[in-house]
Amino acid sequence: MTTATTPASFTELALIQPLLARLTELEYQQPTPIQAQVIPSVLAGRDLIAGANTGSGKTAAFALPLLQDIFTQKKAEHSRDSKGNYVTGLILVPTRELAKQVADSVKSYAVHFNGAIKTVAVFGGVSANTQMLALRGGTDILVATPGRLLDLISSNAIKLDKVKTLVLDEADRMLSLGFTDELSELLGQLPKQKQTLLFSATFPEQVQTLTQELLNDPVEIQLQSDDASTVVQRVFNVNKGEKTAVLAHLFKQHQWRQALVFVNAKNSCEHLADKLYKRGIEAEVFHGDKGQGYRTRILEAFKSGEIDVLIATDIAARGLDIEKLPVVINFDLPRSPSDYMHRIGRSGRAGEVGLALSLIDYEDFHHFKVIEKKNKIRLEREQVEGYELDETITQEMLEASKPMAKPEGTGKKKRKKKGLGQSDVWLRNS
Ligand code: AMP
Repeated sequence: MTTATTPASFTELALIQPLLARLTELEYQQPTPIQAQVIPSVLAGRDLIAGANTGSGKTAAFALPLLQDIFTQKKAEHSRDSKGNYVTGLILVPTRELAKQVADSVKSYAVHFNGAIKTVAVFGGVSANTQMLALRGGTDILVATPGRLLDLISSNAIKLDKVKTLVLDEADRMLSLGFTDELSELLGQLPKQKQTLLFSATFPEQVQTLTQELLNDPVEIQLQSDDASTVVQRVFNVNKGEKTAVLAHLFKQHQWRQALVFVNAKNSCEHLADKLYKRGIEAEVFHGDKGQGYRTRILEAFKSGEIDVLIATDIAARGLDIEKLPVVINFDLPRSPSDYMHRIGRSGRAGEVGLALSLIDYEDFHHFKVIEKKNKIRLEREQVEGYELDETITQEMLEASKPMAKPEGTGKKKRKKKGLGQSDVWLRNS
């Protein structure tokens, strides 16, 4: 695999003027490492597999050369949208929010093409009629979630036989969300001859199989892990039952402009919001049971700073681009180690320094060790002043906490008794 080198300038990447002008307006001063590597390969027509997290600038990495190719091709052919229900560039994404976000980015990069490139986003949860109307006469770029795209194909709103470039964004997420069947059905409808770009944060077996089936002599790009990480990660050991109090304390202490708090279940969102409200902190919730209209509205309000605290399930963890999010908090730990990376990637985006906090009680302790191991990180355990661990703290927990500041006032209470099993201690604590 190729690893990142010093990024060139956008001009050196041979992008055309309408795109360069837009990048200047957006104040993108230089390509991110993923852009520096992906853009030339895509322009050279190669298939590509890239390991990239959200926040690395991967959307522009595929969107800019895709736009350039389509625009140049259209200009050469003097063709306008005359091919019926065609699609030239198809971008498949796992979630509705990501579909909207990617389409917005593509449209934004394309403003100086003055309407020559048509981009449409289609996703579930909203009426299909508007999307069918938008697809009339075909589209140059289609950003889609797999399920809705299949629906639209079966109602003849769109055909995939003219696709020249396929982008699979967040392939691992797409497969882990159970889109395997939809994906293979869609792939079967695409022409054999095409360019395929696959982006994935992780490479489980399913993704590797997909890669082998789909890609033709691909360029392989893997960022060095710290290229994309500008996130300071901190972990706090917390007594069981004190997480809400600690969270409220941290909010009051730090007065963050915005915070994204992750929990593991939809009802935990509401539950935590209620508990915070009682402590004088207003928070909104964001999860899969909320309608699309609500989710879009809340997200906009959060992005614009109207909402300070958003409590979300992992539906929000992938791909959402909330500019300069100062802090992400794991109130519940994510189930999978890769979701941990996705969650914390919401903060510290594109060169901004961010902060990711995890609150762990004894039930999370082993799981967090797994998260660390799988992600090849090792974080110092800290305690929050005023909420130090009580005397039932286990020896193992202390060991894992090294180097940890000795919590004041707890030293003499520490258990001296040898041979006490950790579960005994933990049982006492629960
Ligand atoms: P992404 O990883 O594609 O979700 O991008 C994350 C954020 O980085 C978005 O807000 C982009 O607008 C921004 N971004 C992408 N590329 C650059 C760049 N070269 N310079 C500055 N910001 C960028």
